[in-house]
Amino acid sequence: MPDTRTHEAAQPQGRLCHVCDIRTNTPEESVVFTSDLWTATLAADVPGWIMITLNRHGSDWLWGLSPEEALTLGPLMQRLSEAARTEAGAERVYLMGFGEKWQHFHFMLLSRPVTVPEDLRGPGLLEKAPELADRREALRLGSSIRKRLAASDGQ
Ligand SMILES: [Zn+2]
Repeated sequence: MPDTRTHEAAQPQGRLCHVCDIRTNTPEESVVFTSDLWTATLAADVPGWIMITLNRHGSDWLWGLSPEEALTLGPLMQRLSEAARTEAGAERVYLMGFGEKWQHFHFMLLSRPVTVPEDLRGPGLLEKAPELADRREALRLGSSIRKRLAASDGQ
């Protein structure tokens, strides 16, 4: 896996971009995918939750992607969501990205297992993140997702 986590950027007021910080300092065991353009890491210690981050820092959002970044994003989203769905036993994989506080392009894939009660489905699932967090299971699942992606790279 190439180490592409080298681009950091300071935000106004001298703060390091939180997204750059996560991308640069996430332990290897929490990285499920990396390429020249994208990094996917486990998120919030919730099993099957993944953050996809553009490697380069930029304050533009989706409209600021280069043609190559735009071209590779769709297949990456499809592969990661399929791997998360299969490995996590998810019935749905939600997409979420705001870019308000930290404008570096990133978004989340949130696996929603079939076992989640109906009243927690949709945005309500976010409120339950602390209860759903299970670092050991998130790492185990992350390893399975990483292996599935690596196997599909070899096809
Ligand atoms: Zn950044």
